[in-house]
Amino acid sequence: MTRSTPRTALVTGAARGIGAAVARRLAADGLSVALVDLDEASCDSVVKEIHDAGGRALGCGVDVADESAVHAAIERIDSELGEPTVLVNNAGILRDNLLFKMSVEDWDAVMNVHLRGSFLMTRAVQEYMTTAGWGRIVNLSSTSALGNRGQANYAAAKAGIQGFTKTLAIELGKFGITANAIAPGFIETEMTMATAERVGVTFDDFKSAVTKQIPVGRGGLPDDIAHAVSFFVSEDAGYVSGQVLYVAGGPAA
Ligand code: NAP
Repeated sequence: MTRSTPRTALVTGAARGIGAAVARRLAADGLSVALVDLDEASCDSVVKEIHDAGGRALGCGVDVADESAVHAAIERIDSELGEPTVLVNNAGILRDNLLFKMSVEDWDAVMNVHLRGSFLMTRAVQEYMTTAGWGRIVNLSSTSALGNRGQANYAAAKAGIQGFTKTLAIELGKFGITANAIAPGFIETEMTMATAERVGVTFDDFKSAVTKQIPVGRGGLPDDIAHAVSFFVSEDAGYVSGQVLYVAGGPAA
């Protein structure tokens, strides 16, 4: 199914890693793409790549956990790019530690970006989707939602994302809106590079240890996730909603 007017997608945490790959992929699919990240300038190179390839993109500096900044950004995206009817809640941070050493600040920081940020973004954007009678929401969960040592905060947030997603699917389905979650396993990005550094091993050693446990025998790449997002966002995926897709090179749950 094709359309004459491009849809506008909003991708959070789009300056690098998975978010940048999703932004590039949705632009290649023909959507206009708003790249949201903490620092607008950090989005410049991906915005330029999309422009150079003939696409439409806009960088926006926003903390997804800041309610007024979220509203201001969405109004700007609506006026400069078009009404956002595709939302990819991808922005994320890690503040790993064993439970007995985890600070309240690190608990709150992770909850704020993943859960509060996804809530604020989705609540603001659903208005455009319900008005349009069409929308696509994709939330980034993780295999850590099933439990992971040193990640009580992150695992709780990523499990929360799954409940949030299913509830969005139930509430918003009647408006032509689907909501799905993608739960990546190990993906090569700065986030997993930081994890290797935290546990005191080189990224190559970390990657080869992790890869031994992955059925397809390789680490994931941001484009592996972007491909799954592209499917959920596609016009023809309107009957797929409330699902959690593990993209982990083999079974997770
Ligand atoms: P990444 O390389 O660390 O990129 C995350 C991006 O989010 C960064 O550009 C970061 O900006 C931005 N960000 C952080 N806090 C933000 C905020 N409050 N408002 C707006 N933007 C913010 O991470 P990634 O590996 O691509 O991961 C993307 C998503 O996939 C995350 O939700 C992550 O939890 C999830 N995930 C990743 C993996 C993996 O193996 N990589 C596995 C499972 C799930 P700054 O650079 O300014 O901090």
